[in-house]
Amino acid sequence: MSLSNGRPYLAIPGPSVIPDVVLQAMHRASPNIYEGELHDLTRSLIPDLKSVAMTDHNVAIYIGNGHAAWEAALSNAIGPGDTVLVLATGRFGIGWGEIATGLGAKVEVIDCGVQSPIDLARAEERLAADTAGQIKAVLAVHVDTSTSVKSDVAGLRGVLDRTGHPALLMADCIASLGCDRFEMDAWGVDIMVAACQKGLMTPAGISFVFFNDKADDAQSARVSRYWDWRPRVDPAVYYQYFAGTAPTHHLYGLRAALDLIKAEGLDAVFARHAKLAQTVWAAIDVWGSDGPMSLNVPNAEHRSHAVTSIAIGSSVGQDLREWTETKCGLTLGIGLGREPEDAYFRIGHMGHVSGHMIMGALGTIDAGLKALNIPHGRGALEAASEVVAGTTERRTNDG
Ligand SMILES: *Cc1c(COP(=O)(O)O)cnc(C)c1O
Repeated sequence: MSLSNGRPYLAIPGPSVIPDVVLQAMHRASPNIYEGELHDLTRSLIPDLKSVAMTDHNVAIYIGNGHAAWEAALSNAIGPGDTVLVLATGRFGIGWGEIATGLGAKVEVIDCGVQSPIDLARAEERLAADTAGQIKAVLAVHVDTSTSVKSDVAGLRGVLDRTGHPALLMADCIASLGCDRFEMDAWGVDIMVAACQKGLMTPAGISFVFFNDKADDAQSARVSRYWDWRPRVDPAVYYQYFAGTAPTHHLYGLRAALDLIKAEGLDAVFARHAKLAQTVWAAIDVWGSDGPMSLNVPNAEHRSHAVTSIAIGSSVGQDLREWTETKCGLTLGIGLGREPEDAYFRIGHMGHVSGHMIMGALGTIDAGLKALNIPHGRGALEAASEVVAGTTERRTNDG
């Protein structure tokens, strides 16, 4: 018997759940791209994107996914032969570095493992040793979606400042923007990349490069006309926003998604994600209390609020994911980039996700563990429910 009919929940984690208002906004006839409403709508997105990124600087929009934003940012910031330092905490940091290699950069990787954040001491040691200032850019993934590790981007700025190193600080916020607090200007980030299909709740297809004046001054002379961010932030003619036809329907969708974020308020968005993440962690702690399951990131301060990576102890990740999807309509994330992949799974809790969705997802996983005889501690749902109810906090506060 299957219980999967009804509304599915794709928790893989990205693309994330698309709100109905976003889908409805996209369900329309093609707008005129030469004048009128679409132009006004596009211009209206810019200040709202900047406010989500907490920056007063520039944002260039690209038709493409996160990989396109990676390439766009690197194409502007570095040229062939430049050195970039990648501080990797999972698959996505490595992947960004591979794009840089493909563009002819010399790529140095400091691998910080898959369970802890960027090692600021190692970064500092390397940057301090670069007295000739060869390193042109430092690449950091704020939340590496493959491991659910969150790194201290402001701390990295501190490292660059302490060592007096002029490298550009580049951050990948594809998973974190609109989920985990990120403050581009306050944290001294020069270039930030994001995409629309995670915290921004819009179907995959547009991505963003935010950059400040320092990054613009350092622009590579070799940037192609297509990737060049300048016409995109200061277009003389509308088509230059996108170097061609606008991603018409995505723009309507994104408008609706940004309206949702505005209406909820960014602080409330962050607080919701934090609470839902704590709910997930509470359940996993109990499952792991009697069996092999554990949170991939031991220290709660280093965990993302957008996605959680879980070790399940043996190669049953695939069985569990298949069970939750076919029996209950919940699609969990694969153990992306992990060895063996099936010994891990991920729960996406980014974007348009509520308390009842998370409680439903946890209840479904709990049932899957039982159906498949995967060893686990009992009482996980009780623990999760206490977090949602706020009773755990009350007990803690009462001492
Ligand atoms: C999803 C993701 C990417 C890749 O985005 P695509 O749209 O799949 O190209 C890169 N970095 C992070 C942190 C991500 O979460």
